[in-house]
Amino acid sequence: MSDKKYSIIAVLDTIEDKLIQQSLELIVFASSFAAGDLSTALVVVPGKSVMKLCESITEKYLIDTAAIEHDELYYPNPELLAELLYGTIGEYSPGLIIFTHTVRNSQCTAKLSVISKSSTVTAVESFIRDGETCIFQRSIFNGKLKINQRLNALLKIVTVLAGTYTLEEDTVSYKSNASVNAPAYCPAPASRSGAKHYGYKPISLSPEALGGVKLEDADVIISAGRGIGKEENLSLISETASIFENAAVGASRPICDQRWLPFNQQVGITGRTVSPKLYLACGISGSQQHIAGMKNSQCIVAINKDPDAAIFSVSDYIIVEDLIYFLPVLIRKYRDIYEKE
Ligand code: FAD
Repeated sequence: MSDKKYSIIAVLDTIEDKLIQQSLELIVFASSFAAGDLSTALVVVPGKSVMKLCESITEKYLIDTAAIEHDELYYPNPELLAELLYGTIGEYSPGLIIFTHTVRNSQCTAKLSVISKSSTVTAVESFIRDGETCIFQRSIFNGKLKINQRLNALLKIVTVLAGTYTLEEDTVSYKSNASVNAPAYCPAPASRSGAKHYGYKPISLSPEALGGVKLEDADVIISAGRGIGKEENLSLISETASIFENAAVGASRPICDQRWLPFNQQVGITGRTVSPKLYLACGISGSQQHIAGMKNSQCIVAINKDPDAAIFSVSDYIIVEDLIYFLPVLIRKYRDIYEKE
């Protein structure tokens, strides 16, 4: 391990030792935070055997990397990762550790924050410099309000909302001029208490997580939100999907949490990222976590009873109406026009 110190550590996500590409956005965030100077930024890659992955990231983005390897990191294990990162903090003394905002990283940062006595803010969308300090900005109340949050602890931990610092194809602007070190290897330190006290051990991916409905391939996505009211009303959503060619049904998280639809139909930061020609959001408020997964759709139409719904701020067409009334009218009109042709 090198004795170099780093001011920013970006912790990437892997599953089965493969990188989750979206987590590379952290390099863009780090670059912006460090005003383009990535010489004191370190990318940490957790996994079972990830030195080669570290080498490829160092080579492509000209940034120092370190592998945190452990057999049980082949699948995400936030509690174990928090323990191992605690050792890494001791080695490198960073001022800021960044993660992509996901459920498991929220678990990891909650634990890491407690054991390292640091301050944490989640789902950060941007930041502003205020002299020596920094104010992190995020949304609350399903995107209706933005707040500024200043963290006082010496070590700050931040989860960054996916899709807010996007990585373009041309990566040149994110490259550091610094000469980079060979990837470092962070051996697993002994657990703080000497005992294995991480709660669980993920052992495989469910088939659902691996495949199923390909929302990503659909030209049209009709998405159901909590505003559909009850499970029976899903038939209205699938009937609307049936009037379009190559259409799929998507959902916001509460719909999948209630098991009304499987998780592989969830759109958002912890679901699928989609960019169909048409995205019709039905009864979805427009939380940042949902918007991050669908904002790159070519045309966004939202139906919502609330004229101030946050989803309208990213929509091309807005329909302030009860979806239970509106969708049957849409289906009828559509069929009247197109099925007569
Ligand atoms: P609500 O926020 O309850 O909105 C329902 C909307 O329906 C309201 O705007 C209401 O005005 C409208 N409505 C009600 N009745 C009608 C009607 N009859 N006709 C028309 N409109 C009506 N969410 C995701 O979607 N995807 C994710 O990947 C995701 N990941 C998350 C990750 C983390 C770590 C966390 C903390 C949260 C995540 N969430 C995610 C949850 C997210 O924060 C919101 O809670 C969720 O998106 C809200 O879903 P919703 O818009 O369907 O429900």
